[in-house]
Amino acid sequence: MDGDFRTEFTRNPAGIRKHPALVLNADFRPLSYYPLSVWPWQEAVKAAVLDRVHIIAEYDELVRSPSIEMRIPSVIVLKDYVKPQKRVAFTRFNLFLRDEFCCQYCGSRGDLTFDHVVPRAAGGVTSWENVVAACSPCNLRKGSKPLRKTGLALRKPPRQPTAEELRNMGRKFPPGHLHDSWMDFLYWDAELEA
Ligand SMILES: [Zn+2]
Repeated sequence: MDGDFRTEFTRNPAGIRKHPALVLNADFRPLSYYPLSVWPWQEAVKAAVLDRVHIIAEYDELVRSPSIEMRIPSVIVLKDYVKPQKRVAFTRFNLFLRDEFCCQYCGSRGDLTFDHVVPRAAGGVTSWENVVAACSPCNLRKGSKPLRKTGLALRKPPRQPTAEELRNMGRKFPPGHLHDSWMDFLYWDAELEA
């Protein structure tokens, strides 16, 4: 596929606010769940004009140029399948996502920090296996003491998540804006399980 074709979610909130398009991979699953893969309408229209996507659903509003008139796409599907990334980057964001944005000691969701389970002072490294999300009070309580001396316990043993696990975690956190036409492509299996 063409190298210049963007496959990542956009980080341009201004373009997203009005008529964003949900971007699905060729298998009709969102390119990413968290953040949800959406493009500004300009990019969706451009991709459609370049014949790189199928338009699955549209907004009522039209865009016009001297040569074209079309409804703004609300759901598009890539014609070429993009392989999901296998490797999981060790980032703050991914670590919070692995821990579902809650403290791994008490389960609270506010005021999150990172905690080295084996303190750095005791030789603890910064890795998937030794860093967890922790709320400030738990982090403070733990300080640089070894875990067994704190009365705190980990909710689950920290480890490197697979890309699939992170994707599934991401689905639990719906974005602020969801257009009606997106619903058929999001969370449908969650509903079946209910
Ligand atoms: Zn806590």
